[in-house]
Amino acid sequence: MEKKKTINFGAGPAKLPPSVLLQAQKELLDYNNIGISVLEMSHRSADFSKIINTTENLLRELLNIPENYKVLFLQGGGSGQFSAVPLNLIGLKEDRCADYVVTGAWSAKAAKEAEKYGQINVVHPKLDKYTSIPDNSGWSLNPSASYVYYCCNETVHGVEFNFIPDSKDVILVSDMSSNFLSRPVDVSKFGLIFAGAQKNIGCAGVTVVIVREDLLGKACKECPVVLDYQVQAGNNSLYNTPPCFSIYVMNLVLEWIKNNGGTEAMEKLSKQKSSLIYDVINNSGGFYSCPVNEDCRSRMNIPFRIGRKEGDEALEKLFLDGASKLGMISLKGHRSVGGIRASLYNAVTLEDTQILTAYMKQFLKEHQP
Ligand code: PLP
Repeated sequence: MEKKKTINFGAGPAKLPPSVLLQAQKELLDYNNIGISVLEMSHRSADFSKIINTTENLLRELLNIPENYKVLFLQGGGSGQFSAVPLNLIGLKEDRCADYVVTGAWSAKAAKEAEKYGQINVVHPKLDKYTSIPDNSGWSLNPSASYVYYCCNETVHGVEFNFIPDSKDVILVSDMSSNFLSRPVDVSKFGLIFAGAQKNIGCAGVTVVIVREDLLGKACKECPVVLDYQVQAGNNSLYNTPPCFSIYVMNLVLEWIKNNGGTEAMEKLSKQKSSLIYDVINNSGGFYSCPVNEDCRSRMNIPFRIGRKEGDEALEKLFLDGASKLGMISLKGHRSVGGIRASLYNAVTLEDTQILTAYMKQFLKEHQP
């Protein structure tokens, strides 16, 4: 019997383009006819230099990164950057303070970590639930803050910025881990952007940091050397052994994005895919409900409940079990919010999404009261 196709709607590590996996498999034992695997290759070799430089150049091309920005490939994940950002940037101004826009679990975590290194101001009154983005004009920004931080897409709560905030001339920092390269970005508006690879651009192990050159060299003295942007920039991300294989996989994914139309095409596709699901939710007469305000619903992570607003857990289990039987996996919502979450990163196809929406419609028909 033919094996059922598995569709991975996981929030990360997430689905990779099958062609990328096949290429990595093909080259696993013998990369480029040199007789060894990337897994065995010295990070100081000419072959690896070529891989890391091509990866950087592709990223520069895809995002149109201005020349006065450095691109770093670091370890420690997005969480490592929750520490690295304040360690490198909080001392930019004498007051050692920073503004954090908290719109979900990940920006809340980043703000908590940053509190170890300086004074952190949450720029709007604490939200009792993460379902909206308060109007930018009402934010109480501190002009003497070293930077303003926000998370561009909250992976757990499904809240996404569809605008670049006005930070009133203060350096803007963004965690783009879960919507990186899913649309074009004007990098020049930012002091720093970071993104873990394991959602839209590769596998776990490497985090991209794009940082404006004039912000280098301002790290606190307690900053661990591997997290010091100036040290890593001065060594082309090779101060210590980098996550070589993860960088190689990223290289393949970036080529795939380029060959599939770049960030504009990814944006178009992400809008198509997410609209399909939001349309089913909106037209379900309340059977499916997404708690997030319409103006900031994520194209990448769609959380929803089934049966009633706060979720009918028995019905949700039935939904997940049925989905799993059809090959659709990792649809369970994050443990802190429950319900269902469909993640639609770049590698998830329109066809994958249509299979999910067909199932949602069928489930609605069978279970609506
Ligand atoms: N930021 C966002 C938006 C995330 O979704 C995640 C993880 O899912 C992180 C940061 C943390 O990344 P890591 O697990 O690589 O530390």
